[in-house]
This record gives sequence, C-alpha cells and structure tokens, in this order.
Amino acid sequence: MRVAVLSAEAVPYSKTGGLGDVAGALPKALRAVGEDSFLITPCYLQTKGEYLWHTAVDDLWVNWRGKPYRAQAFYSEANGSPTFLIDAPSFFHRDSIYGYTEDYERFAFFNHAALELIKRLGAPPDIVHLNDWHCGFAAVEIAHLRYWDSYWRNTRTVFSIHNMAYQGGFDIGELWKFGFSSDFERNAFAFNGYASAMKAGLAVADMLSTVSRRYGFEIQQPENGYGLDWLVRQRSNRLIGIVNGVDFDVWNPATDTALNSHFNAQNINGKQACKKELLEQFSLPVDLEPPIFANITRLTGQKGIDLMMAVAGDILATGSYIISLGSGEQRYEDFWQRLRDYAPRQVGIFRGYNEDLAHKIEAGADLFMMPSKFEPCGLNQMYSLRYGTVPVVRAVGGLDDTVQNFDAVNGKGNGFKFSEYRADKFLEKIYEALFAYYDKDVWRRLQWNGMTIDNSWENAARKYVQLYRMTKS
Ligand code: ADP
Repeated sequence: MRVAVLSAEAVPYSKTGGLGDVAGALPKALRAVGEDSFLITPCYLQTKGEYLWHTAVDDLWVNWRGKPYRAQAFYSEANGSPTFLIDAPSFFHRDSIYGYTEDYERFAFFNHAALELIKRLGAPPDIVHLNDWHCGFAAVEIAHLRYWDSYWRNTRTVFSIHNMAYQGGFDIGELWKFGFSSDFERNAFAFNGYASAMKAGLAVADMLSTVSRRYGFEIQQPENGYGLDWLVRQRSNRLIGIVNGVDFDVWNPATDTALNSHFNAQNINGKQACKKELLEQFSLPVDLEPPIFANITRLTGQKGIDLMMAVAGDILATGSYIISLGSGEQRYEDFWQRLRDYAPRQVGIFRGYNEDLAHKIEAGADLFMMPSKFEPCGLNQMYSLRYGTVPVVRAVGGLDDTVQNFDAVNGKGNGFKFSEYRADKFLEKIYEALFAYYDKDVWRRLQWNGMTIDNSWENAARKYVQLYRMTKS
C-alpha cells in the first residue's frame, strides 16, 4: 500500500510532544513491514538545516486565498523513511511551532500544500494518514475531491486522535477563504457555531484511531470528549485504539548515544553509573542508596502536576531524590523552583526542553511519576519501562493499557497504578513502590518485567496496516 502520513510535527525535524515521536517513527515502521510510506510535515525555523538533504520540488504552487503561493518541498530521510518538508516561510518560520492565533490557517495551508505535493509526486496514495486537528482539513478536502478528481477516487483517509483536548477551533466565516465553500464541507467543520478541524477529521475520515484502547473509550464520555463525545460514539464502529510503539533506535539503554554507560535487561549494572552521573549533573550528593523519583513533561494541568505538588513533601521525607525536567505553566514552574530552594540536596530541576537530558533521566532514575488527569497514550512510561525505571501512574488512557500494577505475591506487573485522581491514592502507590524498591530481589523482578516487554513499533505498524485495510470495507 502507498501511504502518505501527514503530521504537524515529526522527530527529528520538529517536536513538542508525543505526536512528534509517533509521526517520526510510524512511516519508518510501516516501511519495515513492507508498505510504501512517506511522511509530509512542515519545515519550521526550528528544523535543522542538516536534515534538509535536497530540494524535491522548488515550485510548489499552492492556490491560497485566491492567490498563487510559491512553496518548496525539501527531501530527507533523517527519520529513516522518505520525508517531504513543506517550506513556506510566512507560515512556518516563527519563533515557536504552535501558539499563534492563526494556527488554524497555518495548518489549513499545510494540508492544502501537502495534497498539491502528493499529486506532484506521482501515483495516488491508497491511504492518507492524518494526525490530530492540524490535519482535519485534508480529510474534508479528500472526501470532497474524491467525487470530481479521478486522482483521489481510490484514496482513503485515516484520522488519528492523539489528544482530544486540542481541537483547532476558529471562526466558521474563514472557511470559504480556504476554499471550503460547499455545504458538505461547511457541515463537516461546523461545531457549536464555529469551525473545528478536529470535528471535521472525526466526521469525515474513512477510519479513526486513537493512541490507546482505553483512550478510545474515554473520549466517548462527556468528561474527555470536549464536546465531541457524541460524534466519537456515533463513529465508534470506525474507531480502533492502537498503542504507540517505542522507537528502539532512539530509546534503547544498550545503545543510547546520550549515555556514557549502557545496560540491558540481562545486565543492568550500567544503570548505577547512569544514576551517579545524573546526580552529579544536578549537583546533588552522590548517595546511590535512596531512589530518584523523576518526571519529564510539559507542565500543564493534564499531567497531574497538582498531585505531584501534593505529595512532593512526603516523598522528600522518605529521603528520596526528586528530579524534574519540563517547562510550561508559570505556577508549576514556580512550584518546582520553590521545592528546589527548600531541599537543594534532594531536588534537581531543569526548566526547558532538553532531549539529551530526558534520556539521561530515564536511564539514571529509579521511579517515574505520571499521575496524569488524562493521557491519550503517554510515551515516557514506555521509555521508563525500557530503561528499568519503574513507573507510578494513574490508570487512564495509554497508562492503563501499558502499565500493570505489580503483585508482590506472584511477581507479575511492571509498575504501580492507582485510579482515583486523589493525592492520597497516589501517595499510597508511592509508598508501595518504595517498599518494593528496598527489597533488591523484588525490584530486580519489577525492572525485568518492564524491560522485557515488546512495545516495538513493528507491532503497532502491523495494526495500522490492518486499520488501513479496514478503510475499504
Ligand atoms: P505529550 O505528547 O502529551 O506531551 P507524551 O508522553 O506522549 O506526552 O510525549 C512527551 C514526549 O515529549 C516524550 O518523548 C518526552 O520525553 C518529551 N518531553 C516532554 N517534555 C520534555 C522536556 N522538557 N525535555 C525533553 N523532552 C520532553
């Protein structure tokens, strides 16, 4: 099958979160299982020049707001599969990837340009795989084009929901400016008096997917559907959940280039050296006995930072270390700073985004905290499992799919998991985890259980291929 994957971000070209990891890895995994896949993503100011191998199309004319716009497309295989990066400076050469009031227009343009590019590349794709609201526009465009442009007649669309909380809403009066003027198109976008790109993708794509089974159920409930749960329920017979894979070329403690010491499930000795280095890096006293609790995240309400704030004092009272990497809302950044000031010998913080440090923390930490309010899939718990860093998570979304609560009696399970969004429930699991940590045999078992799980992309890619086949039924 010929598969075009469209995404607003993709590793290594751009990344703000899990979507970037997924979009970077999926096309490569699809090729590995025999599909003819390629990726289309914007070329941002942040995209490193070394990744732009050569110009694929230097006169990509895109009809935009009634005028021709000349874009370009660069070619690369830096993510291990053919990639086309759409270069349109006025849309994508900005200080940050998202966060502008006209984001909806920037991505509407990206979708439109991507479809122009696909046509320039030759044979029509069997599948156009669209990710999150940024790509909802193309779902409508293809559904519309199918009826009068024979090029698109046999192309089917898959729309993947990575996070329902971001929906790309905008004034419905803008639609005609982007070329969406028919009733069909207007109805696809219309949502409570405005236009929603997420709703459009959900409404018209041939098949839908979410990034975990559990999240697929959660977004059918009003609490997690953000006003679109009715539509997800309506289309639930077209929806499946596929847990993201882990790109082991990037996240593998045996080969990780960010680390000076390496380890694997059979021989975990190198992890202690990573722990020592991590403590040194954060200028913390090097005592390898107490555990390091870690967290790497965007500091937003979704990630359960409130629960971490509520239990941080109790964790410190056990003599443990806490290391946090992340940036986001001011109140959360302030909290981590205050905690560091309060216990400088136990707390290490880094405010900002740092890929290299993320790898070092996964390798050197003992426990990883993810008490999220909601978590469509979550990647860090899977990286943690691979790196022998035991996750303590809330049973939501992908966290529930990938973490099994440890049972000390039969030795099964790979982490610690609680249900209710309550600090005392989280703390209970933290104490349980500490109890296990101080029993070396139990801990080794727990690490083994996590490190030997196959969360590979190959598994996930095969499921996507099945999903692509389902678009024809
Ligand atoms: P989300 O997509 O909601 O942010 P995920 O767990 O799916 O959450 O993916 C987050 C990804 O972003 C992971 O690869 C994580 O390591 C990375 N990440 C988040 N914050 C930072 C940061 N401050 N520095 C480095 N990597 C980060």
